Amino acid sequence: PALYGGTRKNSQGINMNIQKSLTELENAYTPQLDRQWQAAPVINGQTLSGTAEEVRCPYDLNKVVGTAQFATAAQAAQALDGLSAAWPKWNAVAIDERASILERLADLLESNRAELMALCTVEAGKSMQDGIDEVREAVDFCRYYAQQARIKLGREELKGPTGERNELFHEGRGIFVCVSPWNFPLAIYLGQISAALVAGNVVLAKPAEQTSLIAARALELMFDAGLPKDVIAFLPGDGATLGGVFCRDPRVAGVCFTGSTDTARIINRQLAEKDGMIATLIAETGGQNAMIVDSTALPEQVVKDAVGSAFTSAGQRCSALRVLYVQRDIADRVIDLLKGAMAELKIGPTHLRENDIGPVIDAEAREGLLAHINQLKGEGKLIAEASLRADLNGHFIAPVAFEIGGIHELKKEQFGPVLHVVRYDAADLEKVVAAINATGYGLTLGIHSRNEETAARIESLARVGNLYVNRNQIGAVVGVQPFGGCGLSGTGPKAGGPSYLLRFVNERTTSVNT
Ligand code: NAD
Repeated sequence: PALYGGTRKNSQGINMNIQKSLTELENAYTPQLDRQWQAAPVINGQTLSGTAEEVRCPYDLNKVVGTAQFATAAQAAQALDGLSAAWPKWNAVAIDERASILERLADLLESNRAELMALCTVEAGKSMQDGIDEVREAVDFCRYYAQQARIKLGREELKGPTGERNELFHEGRGIFVCVSPWNFPLAIYLGQISAALVAGNVVLAKPAEQTSLIAARALELMFDAGLPKDVIAFLPGDGATLGGVFCRDPRVAGVCFTGSTDTARIINRQLAEKDGMIATLIAETGGQNAMIVDSTALPEQVVKDAVGSAFTSAGQRCSALRVLYVQRDIADRVIDLLKGAMAELKIGPTHLRENDIGPVIDAEAREGLLAHINQLKGEGKLIAEASLRADLNGHFIAPVAFEIGGIHELKKEQFGPVLHVVRYDAADLEKVVAAINATGYGLTLGIHSRNEETAARIESLARVGNLYVNRNQIGAVVGVQPFGGCGLSGTGPKAGGPSYLLRFVNERTTSVNT
């Protein structure tokens, strides 16, 4: 298959080691796909009941995956009472001990990898390869934040006048609410929680409605890793209902949010108006991500990277490519190759490695995307559409590409496998970057050019968090490509980067006359 591949080749041909371990992993993963899972609110280690919601698989709507009990507003208030009482003790636990819990969690994630991958597939519609990457990223977050906590959060003596000792140190802020999206239901969920906990905060964890089951399983692993039961409350459920409680509670010290820009604004407003502590907001939100291709680029490489960036995970990545700007001189060639590549894509249930593209998350997401697709089709802008089998019974959307006049025509992020192509003239390159900046978003930007000056010029003009040159623009690696945007795309700091933990702590200084 074009994107995921059943085999990985090195320069000598097929790399048998990788293929063998993939097969072993697949043998462990496949039987897990038929299991049933449960999720329910957990406060102080006690499992509570809520409103039961049946969870169905996005690629097979007849398949019931489990039941999630959604928490009530009263349970959110109860959770905050418990966390408030638990914070001083957790904050006093040595950084090294908190970091060790994350490292044990990382080991447990690895030893339960096949089950977690299967949950990513049946609950979030992810492919096996996406599941591998998801568990990998979650493990990396745990180990990286454990390491960063030991390096960054200790006590530091600052040089001052003779006869005085000055020390800088950090402590948790108090209660941090972690609100995560469904598109990285393990990695982002655990990335937020592990950062908040290791920095000395207690956590109210609010996973996305669509992915409560995987979040509940990860909570069990956190307890197995030795996390005290009172330092985390788990509240699956409706965002607006629960958010209305925790964003207004005077005791909440901060919210770490990943999701849409609209939701970030609601949370920001509620936090600003609440009584009590002035709460901090860490928001990582959406994007309107472009790739700029000039006439020196290699068209085959461009199309491989554009297809991978726009359609992997059915385009449901915040970093995904939405608008491909191609210099007019090579646009026909690139569009021809794009049509050919899209004709090869196989869409279907993602637990089968033969399929490249899985479903979108739910019926609402599908309807929103179809409205946009039908509008552009009606305007005669279609370039190519992958074929969709008639027998599929899930929330599938065929990857599709349109030609439009410019990024300004797109009024909002389309969170799915929809690519827009724009032709531009070489003389207009700076106008192209200005138009991309004018969207207000600033998450990822791709450049394909063999002219280093062009790439450097674009880098200096573009207002984005993550820039990728001559490669795809998804799949940031923890500790290597710290991830996050600016403007409408987020407040920073970057997840998986060296400044992240510092946003979760209060800095304190003690000065002693010796
Ligand atoms: P969403 O904003 O609808 O939901 C995200 C989370 O917010 C969910 O847990 C939801 O229950 C909760 N929520 C909803 N309303 C709330 C409220 N009023 N108060 C408190 N919480 C509330 O987003 P989504 O559809 O789940 O995720 C897709 C979006 O996330 C896309 O825009 C994507 O670009 C973005 N995203 C960004 C990043 C990043 O790192 N920048 C990563 C992944 C996803």
